[in-house]
Amino acid sequence: MVPEKNLKSVVENNKSKLVPADLNKFLNVWKKTIKNFPDISYLGSDDLRKKCKNVVITDSKTQKDIKKLKEIFLGYREKTGSGRGLAAPQIGMLKRFVAVFVRDKVMILVNPRITKRSNELTIAEELCVSMGNLAATVVRPKFVSISYQDETGKELIIDGNDKESRVIQHELDHLDGILNIDIAIKNGLRFVYDIKQFEMKDFEPNSKCPCGSDKKYKECCEK
Ligand SMILES: [Zn+2]
Ligand SMILES: [Zn+2]
Repeated sequence: MVPEKNLKSVVENNKSKLVPADLNKFLNVWKKTIKNFPDISYLGSDDLRKKCKNVVITDSKTQKDIKKLKEIFLGYREKTGSGRGLAAPQIGMLKRFVAVFVRDKVMILVNPRITKRSNELTIAEELCVSMGNLAATVVRPKFVSISYQDETGKELIIDGNDKESRVIQHELDHLDGILNIDIAIKNGLRFVYDIKQFEMKDFEPNSKCPCGSDKKYKECCEK
């Protein structure tokens, strides 16, 4: 892992999205994070860009891997007091399961699939465990329903509220190699300190684009 190189390539590849900042200052914070959590794959790792495969829940290796994801996620939350979700590829497992902290507990979603998306949207800045203190402003459907298996293999459906839907969509994107920086609006990336909870607002796609242009969102930053 070479954070300098990664950060430079982020700056290079996301010029239209990144708000100018003192990169060295932020790089030092990021370096500390990497040192504290060596099990996590960070921006620049190929693992974060691969499409993950469905798993067989009864497989003993899968059970071990799920346990490992849970442990690392809980350890991260304990040390930092933050972190709403962690996907298997973020710890080098190219498998379709994620851990999310919702409803006051860690939930494991195995082979998850979005079955419904609302037309209503929200806008929010998101942090990602794999991206240090780089935050991305992303527009997403306000509500989603997800079918998944729990750790015992039971088929379940979760109808997420607004906050749950956001974190689950972020984590599920990881399973397809998609990061929030990919879908951020223009001027939507910035380095932050000490912000653990971002504000989430309802968003109307016919309104002026939040990137600062004069166009409507639909004609500007919509992906
Ligand atoms: Zn993430
Ligand atoms: Zn825009």
